[in-house]
Amino acid sequence: MFGLAGKVAIVTGGNGGIGLGMARGLAGAGARVVVAARDANKSEAAVRELGAGALAIAVDVTDERSVDALFRDAVARCGRLDILVNNAGINIRKPPHELSLAEWRQVIDTNLTSAYLCSHAAHPAMKRAGGGKIINIGSMMSIFGAPYAPAYAASKGGIVQFTKACAAAWAPDQIQVNAILPGWIDTDLTRRARVQVAGLHDSVLRRTPAGRWGTIDDFRGIAVFLAGRASDFITGAAITVDGGYSVQG
Ligand code: NDP
Repeated sequence: MFGLAGKVAIVTGGNGGIGLGMARGLAGAGARVVVAARDANKSEAAVRELGAGALAIAVDVTDERSVDALFRDAVARCGRLDILVNNAGINIRKPPHELSLAEWRQVIDTNLTSAYLCSHAAHPAMKRAGGGKIINIGSMMSIFGAPYAPAYAASKGGIVQFTKACAAAWAPDQIQVNAILPGWIDTDLTRRARVQVAGLHDSVLRRTPAGRWGTIDDFRGIAVFLAGRASDFITGAAITVDGGYSVQG
């Protein structure tokens, strides 16, 4: 049910934060993980930690040619592709009236168009392998809005709908496509948010029934579940991993 021996996984943004947490889960269950991100030093450090044949391939997920090269290279070096985690993401925290078109595009390209580019590139190899698993990373802003996150919220809402479309399209190919919606997790991204958004740290603690911020290791289990046989009849779902943040107002 939960073993991933012999499987190959690409994790975008797998060199830190939630992506690294998910990569730890996948590698721990026996998968060979391709860490796909821009910062080569961070990626090499992640690969050393993951072991189990992990490798790093540099990619800019906003660039179609770079994404296509990632998938060609990964399949050439690992022989197959079974699992894709579309995790790379950024935020530019400004209200809509201050956000430029270039900033809007940067966030949408990194968080949403990247999931299209990577899933599109992954589909042929997964079909050849007889099936596959795609895991997209949404957010609490797939559900809620925030005054400082117009492009981010749009991208994360879009991720949920994109997940459903791919799930419906690729079910006949035995490819399950699901989304994870993390609550507030302690990473570089939210360390910056806590500096930029006054009172954020305490308001998250107050609202989260679990009474804590999430850690990247909270994502190991869900990664293994959504990447393995245990979830073969689950597709198009958006699963919160949020300590209960979204269940109370
Ligand atoms: P981090 O900033 O720690 O990690 C972001 C990752 O994305 C890095 O590994 C970075 O690697 C990679 N990345 C960014 N831009 C690109 C790019 N153009 N090409 C390739 N890789 C890129 O953030 P988190 O771990 O917090 O975020 C991971 C995901 O989880 C994001 O999608 C985020 O929106 C989502 N999320 C996070 C939450 C949280 O509370 N932390 C809550 C909800 C969702 P590099 O710089 O080396 O390219």
